[in-house]
Amino acid sequence: MVQKVTIQLVIGQRATFTSIPGSDIPTVHFNFADYDTLRGSIKNPKLLTDYIGRVEKNLLRTTGTGKTLRKTLLRDESRHQIEITLWPDARHLIGDEVVSGDIVAITSTTVTEHNSVIQLESTYLTSVVINPELPQTEAHVNRLKTLPATQETRTDEKMVTIEDLVPNNPVAHASLKGTTNLTCHAKIIQLHEDRGWFYVSCSKCSNKLYPQHQKGQLIFVCKDDADVTPNFRYSVNARITDDTGAADAVFFNDSMYAMLQISCDDMVTKHGETDPKKFPRLVQSILNTPWLLHVAQKLDGSIVVNDVTKITAPSDHEADIPRAETSTLTPTTPIPKKTASKRQEALTPDASDRRKAKKA
Ligand SMILES: [Zn+2]
Repeated sequence: MVQKVTIQLVIGQRATFTSIPGSDIPTVHFNFADYDTLRGSIKNPKLLTDYIGRVEKNLLRTTGTGKTLRKTLLRDESRHQIEITLWPDARHLIGDEVVSGDIVAITSTTVTEHNSVIQLESTYLTSVVINPELPQTEAHVNRLKTLPATQETRTDEKMVTIEDLVPNNPVAHASLKGTTNLTCHAKIIQLHEDRGWFYVSCSKCSNKLYPQHQKGQLIFVCKDDADVTPNFRYSVNARITDDTGAADAVFFNDSMYAMLQISCDDMVTKHGETDPKKFPRLVQSILNTPWLLHVAQKLDGSIVVNDVTKITAPSDHEADIPRAETSTLTPTTPIPKKTASKRQEALTPDASDRRKAKKA
């Protein structure tokens, strides 16, 4: 923990300066907190907290108010996971090159709590050292490096199958309603394109924005506010399947980002995919590949996917999942619109003209 202290150093006329050759003067001092003591730092006066952990995930995220933050998930020596939020003025402290397995030592964060989950947030004093090689961090780094590789499931999550989630299994279904920490190995076999792929909200009031064509350009307007910044968020309805069944699920912004690695904002503004009803071709790339879905089942029984982890090593389970191309599993509700025709539409001159128009 770091306390802010004002020190005055007066240099008088008799002062002399001598250089110290080759000496290692440390520029950072750490006082790492244990995970179990973090909650104690939430209370006022807020204590600035140093922390060290191994990177599990490292992403940029755009908030509902249009701010781009760095989110880095760390695991500590006791396998606790904690998320660091670097606010826009500090998000450069951890770059995209920092990947799973790197060690992050961070100073002067504040501990905050949302929905009973604690996280660390940057302050204007925060500094970060990636893979520190300092005498005071050596023991921590060695222990963190020897932690076993990341497990697919988080300790607080419950693995389920699609049969557990769909209403034809009333017993399991009833018990899962309102449950948020579920994981499920599944493939996405179909995108419900008629439901659109993103929504756009107002930067001032969070209400839905409406598309409008103005001088040949597509703009988004709020019914109440002027000069708003549109916030684009993915929301994709899709059919998922495993070897036990199939179900419809809504993939929210973070889960689509995890699969595509492109923010919805970039997809709309940089890739020119401005039509919420026309799926970008890139979105098709999420189909027919096994994912670990982090799902919640709402009280009404609907399934939402909050996050997705890529499955890198083939598991025994994966072999059991029928491949969608050759699958005998037909979705119970046939979707009238075909993927192929939609995909071609996105390539019509109309779409590329729009892109050119946007650049001009
Ligand atoms: Zn508004």
